[in-house]
Amino acid sequence: MTKDTVAENRKKFLAKAREQLLETKTKLLGEIDSEMRAEREGNKDEGMDAYDLASEERDREINFILSDRERVKLKQIDDALERLDDGTYGVCESCGLEIAEERLNAMPFTRLCRDCQQDEEREAKSQARRLDDEPNAYRKVGSTDADDDSA
Ligand SMILES: [Zn+2]
Repeated sequence: MTKDTVAENRKKFLAKAREQLLETKTKLLGEIDSEMRAEREGNKDEGMDAYDLASEERDREINFILSDRERVKLKQIDDALERLDDGTYGVCESCGLEIAEERLNAMPFTRLCRDCQQDEEREAKSQARRLDDEPNAYRKVGSTDADDDSA
């Protein structure tokens, strides 16, 4: 394969990756939408109209309905699409090499190549061990919901 063919193949691969990401996003938004609809129906039964809620409250409602999994996934999709736009998608953030297509197929949101991922995991593990040795390094999580206005 010539260098041009390789670049051309990569371009095709990235175009396909974008299509798949958009498809996943559409599907996910559809799921979230129907969940929200179901939630609104539920509210109506209690004599409450979700449309009348102040926007801050509505945001809270959406956040409440969105599971962490959905929220994380949506963010990952948007991030990946952004990286596709600026040309950094599929390029390892650590070493700058192109991430193998089979890895991207399996993990479309990954930002690291296999080697760097392994390095990072090793690093995270040794960091966790260091924290274990030093119990004071953990951040205090003590305050109750009642006096927490920062959310
Ligand atoms: Zn790398």
